[in-house]
Parts: sequence; C-alpha cells; structure tokens
Amino acid sequence: MSLIDNLQKIKENIPEKVKLVAVSKTKPEKDIMELYNSGYRIFGENKVQELVQKFKDLPKDIEWHQIGHLQKNKVKYITPFVALIHAVDSLKLLSTINKEALKNNRIIDVLLQIHIAQEETKFGFSCSELNEILNSAEFSALKNIKIVGLMGMATNTNDTNQVHKEFRGLKQCFDSLKNEYFERQEEFKEISMGMSGDYPIAIEEGATIIRVGSHIFGKRDYTNR
Ligand SMILES: *Cc1c(COP(=O)(O)O)cnc(C)c1O
Repeated sequence: MSLIDNLQKIKENIPEKVKLVAVSKTKPEKDIMELYNSGYRIFGENKVQELVQKFKDLPKDIEWHQIGHLQKNKVKYITPFVALIHAVDSLKLLSTINKEALKNNRIIDVLLQIHIAQEETKFGFSCSELNEILNSAEFSALKNIKIVGLMGMATNTNDTNQVHKEFRGLKQCFDSLKNEYFERQEEFKEISMGMSGDYPIAIEEGATIIRVGSHIFGKRDYTNR
C-alpha cells in the first residue's frame, strides 16, 4: 500500500469533520511530498529543528502543526509560520508564545495539554490547574494567543476501557471549561486526542483532531519518538 492509500483508508473511516494531522516526524521530505502531491496539506512534527527544516524546504501552503512538548527557548523558531501548537503545558510557555506572536504580528492558535494518562512522564495540566490559570490576570493579559481547545495523550495500554476513560475525562474537562470560560468564544472547539493506536476510541469520545503517524508513514526508526 502507498502512503496515499494509508491516508485514504483512515479518512474513509473517520467522520468528515474530524481533522487528520499526518504526523511526519523522522520521515523524509519525499514522503510528505507524496501526500502533498495527492492534495494533502496538514502535517505535524514534534521536534522544532526538524519542523523548521521541513518548513524551509517544502511548499509554503502546508499547514504545520507543532504536536509535541515544546521548550520555551525554541518557540521563536516556529512562531512565524506554525498553524497550531498542540501541547502547551505551562503558563510560562503560553506567555512566551504570546510574546513571539506579538513580534510576528500574529495571533497564534494553541491547545492546552491536559494530563490524562497514568504515566508520570506525560506532560500537561490537570483540569483544576487550568481553572486557576484561566482565572489569572497574567492569562487575561495575553492577547496574541487564541486558545482553540485541549489536547491529551492516553496511556499506552491495551486496556481499551482505560483509554476510553482517559479520553472521556478530557472531553469532560473540555465541556466544563467551555461552560465556565469560553461560552461566547466559538473558536474554543477543538479536542486533539488519538494517535495510530487509539484514534477510533478518541473519535468515539469526541475528538475533533487526531494525530496519526505510523499508520500512515509506517514504523519509525527511533522507538522513543
Ligand atoms: C508521534 C506522535 C503522534 C503520532 O504517533 P503514532 O502512534 O505514530 O500515530 C501523535 N501525537 C504526538 C504528540 C506524537 O509525538
């Protein structure tokens, strides 16, 4: 099967309104171009250096998503062009993105990452931490970011009940924040959850964006990425 077939097969099995981010990390630019030439435009990367290189080399109408943990000192390299930053996990990072967005005269769309997995290594806020932040004066002062929703990663497990439960928790957090803070803000509408191993469950639980890598591009060489 070609990469295009892989992508097509996923698209056929998800609702049309769910956005599919093709996660191309560690994969060569020619793989991206294969999908690009078939009309696909939405790609995700998790390493800033790789994202910037691919942005430079590839057509400028690609919609680039920064999907993984982001360090504050790297923000400035992606703010000129990034379409959506998925995994914002601290107020400091938010204000850095705001500062760099302002320099670029942009308002940048971001998702706040919620910690839903059992593993301690996964980054993110708890829902109650977010409540505090959204109430803070420091947050209200940030005018060059737009919070368009939440993002999360489930535990890497075969226990589908557990995965259902975690994604459902993220959706509940989304609903409560929507009621409390974003009721009149139509742009707060995205829930980015689900990867190759669990996106059908994520969609059942209300995902609006899924991030799929290996099911499109094949296994990656580096197991830790
Ligand atoms: C790598 C990665 C994905 C995609 O993982 P696959 O299992 O290959 O689909 C999704 N989200 C994030 C944050 C990632 O780092």
